[in-house]
Formats: sequence, structure tokens, C-alpha cells
Amino acid sequence: MQKLQEISQLIFPTRCLGCHKLSPTICADCLTQWKKRKFKTKYSDLSVYSTFSYTPVAASVILAAKENGDSTADKLLIDAIVWQIENLELDFNKIRLVPIPSSKRSIRNRGRSFIVNIVEQISQQIGIPMLDCLTLTGKTIDQSRLNRQQRLQNMKGAFSMKAMARGELLLIDDVITTGATLKEAARALNSQGFHAQISAITACVAQPLR
Ligand SMILES: [Zn+2]
Repeated sequence: MQKLQEISQLIFPTRCLGCHKLSPTICADCLTQWKKRKFKTKYSDLSVYSTFSYTPVAASVILAAKENGDSTADKLLIDAIVWQIENLELDFNKIRLVPIPSSKRSIRNRGRSFIVNIVEQISQQIGIPMLDCLTLTGKTIDQSRLNRQQRLQNMKGAFSMKAMARGELLLIDDVITTGATLKEAARALNSQGFHAQISAITACVAQPLR
């Protein structure tokens, strides 16, 4: 088996998703930055569970999935989220997975709504239904250059509902930084008055911005 893998590497060389040198998926060096853990972050009453620390390797994996549609990178993120869902020992019959939608512009550029597509794959894999009920209102700007306070301001009223949501909901996103996006999504979900039980899972957790 080992021999076969070596031969296949010679014929179809793959590059490490972390550092791009020739290596299968993630090389031994980058693996030191890619370790599964049970991170839990609290944002007022929202608990967020994450699997990987947002290291340069994690950033590179997310970029490959998000911007290049790399299916191996997708699988790593899916695996990270599924691992965390399974850790929570939830009643799979009661839960709905709620993806954080992408902006119209990102969907055009990437050819898919990134997290919606990731959650579709998770849903097929583990049999928890997806509830794609959030939509972006279009008033937000790209937040990569914004600080914590600006992000909170930017995300206010960012989501509206395109379908009803109730019960036990698990919000899903790729990375949590300030919690602004997930908090606003949870607010939108509860705005219908049902007060769903909401927690969130992300593949990665970044150091909080100041
Ligand atoms: Zn590497």
C-alpha cells in the first residue's frame, strides 16, 4: 500500500496545502500547526466550538477551499466540523445545520456559496438536515481590514431570514475571529420570536481582534 502511494505521488504529485511543497495533503512540518482540539469560546450566550487554531497553515487550507475550490481542502474543513459535531454528542434527530451564507459577489466569484456548499456535503455525510435559512441583506462591507468594534457595527442587521427556523440549531462557519458574524446570525434566527436553542461550530478559531 505504501509503495502504491509512493508511485501515485510520482505520477500525480500533490502539494502540501499549508506550504505548497511536494507532499501529500499536509506535510509533516505543517502538521505541527494542524492539530485537532476542542476549543470552546463564549460570546455572551452563544457557545462556539472550534477544531483548529487559525495558524498560517489553517489560513492556507481555508484559502485553498474558499478561493480555489480545492476539494481536498474542503474535505479537511468538513472533517474538522464533523469531528466537533460528533464530540458534542447531540441528538442528531433534533438538530438542523445552519450555514453562514456568502455575499452575492463572493458566490459569483467562487461559483458557489462556500459554507452552504460545505454544509451540504456534511449533511449528506452524517445525515443531519441543513436549514439554509439565512440570507445576507447586502449592507455589509468586506471585514478583513476592520477592527473588532467596526466588525460588530458592520454586521448589525447583516442577515435576514428566508425560511422559518426553530428548534436546536447549529450555526456553521469556517473561522471565528470576533464572533460578530455568528452573534448577528443568532440574533437574526431568534428575531422571529421562536427563540431557538443555538450554538455554533467553526473549523478554526482565530485570536480575538482588539
Ligand atoms: Zn507543508
